[in-house]
Amino acid sequence: MSLRKKIGILGAGQLGKMLAIEGANWHLDLEALDSSSNSPAAHLVHKMTEGHFNDYQAVLDFGADKDIITIEIEHVNTDALRVLKQQGKTVIPDPDVLDIIKDKGRQKEFYKQHDLPTSPFALYNDKAEVLAAVENGTWIAPFVQKSRTAGYDGKGVVIIKSNNELHKLVDGPCVIEEAVDIDKELAVIAVANKMGELKIFPVVEMLFNPEANLVENLFCPARIDDTTRKAAETLAISTMQAYGLQGLLAIEMFLSKDGEVLINEVAPRPHNSGHHTIEACVSSQYQQHLRALLNLPLGDTSLRSPAMMINLLGHPDHQGPAMYSGIEEVLKISNVFVHIYGKETTKPFRKMGHITILGDDFEAVNTKANQIRQTLKVISS
Ligand code: ADP
Repeated sequence: MSLRKKIGILGAGQLGKMLAIEGANWHLDLEALDSSSNSPAAHLVHKMTEGHFNDYQAVLDFGADKDIITIEIEHVNTDALRVLKQQGKTVIPDPDVLDIIKDKGRQKEFYKQHDLPTSPFALYNDKAEVLAAVENGTWIAPFVQKSRTAGYDGKGVVIIKSNNELHKLVDGPCVIEEAVDIDKELAVIAVANKMGELKIFPVVEMLFNPEANLVENLFCPARIDDTTRKAAETLAISTMQAYGLQGLLAIEMFLSKDGEVLINEVAPRPHNSGHHTIEACVSSQYQQHLRALLNLPLGDTSLRSPAMMINLLGHPDHQGPAMYSGIEEVLKISNVFVHIYGKETTKPFRKMGHITILGDDFEAVNTKANQIRQTLKVISS
């Protein structure tokens, strides 16, 4: 098996950066395409190409000399990926599956077709149709509106808690789904290679920042009972098998207050809910993705230590060149691993880095996490 394949990544953000760092251990030939040559992964890949990953010609040209093409973001041009696949290149994830996943409406229909448990939903073309459905009693608040194609990190998701909040509805094609009475948000990352091996990482528990509507903290192993753990693992494996994907698939789930495990959405790439695997697992999600790209045997996904991951978000009151106030204090704490993505400017709630904390149990890592949150702030000068 040769490791001398040319691998192209669409996107050069923090996920591409961590993939490139892992790839360097095997001296893999990784290149990236992104609109800015200042992107987080830019100086870590062998070659950076400037261009938009959603542009047909840019993706086609970028893929021309690659053996393997992968992504670190979903919003890429799948028509170009299909052509590259027809040319005989390895494209992971498969562009047709990526098209389903990019559209939250098609994703929900996929789960229904495959009997994968998910909250009840319906699809609408615009806000007027949603209002008519509320008017005729099809939907009674609370419910959730999701833009079919425009969303990420909580953008494009509107939670309507009561009929007084109907003004929050946005226009355009959307999914309306039942609001789940959530006990915990869980995630499992699965990985598969062409040989047919499939593995999953231990279940994580996600803790959200309600203001920013995105993951702020994550703890692994999730504090759930064995039945729930088994249900989450089984759902992750069934979802991965239903999509028939190679590479990584992050499966986000809800554990409802009545104990049901439901699939929320998936991402076919390295994922925020797997950052901790760098220090906490025997082989990280990034290493597993590279193994899958090259059709190598998958590594050991087991947990070496309980871990908490904190996303380092831009301070809500700051915008401009980024500064990491309090980082010296944080670096004095043991078993704390700081990752700075290198984005030049900070914005409110922008993902600027993350920190992984290893410890014996939830209390041990949570105490350190609280200390870090009070100390470290991403501000602008
Ligand atoms: P994104 O793709 O932007 O991450 P998600 O579908 O993950 O969007 O939704 C963001 C958050 O909104 C979820 O993590 C959850 O907290 C909340 N949410 C989404 N769907 C539902 C639902 N059906 N019921 C209750 N809360 C939901």
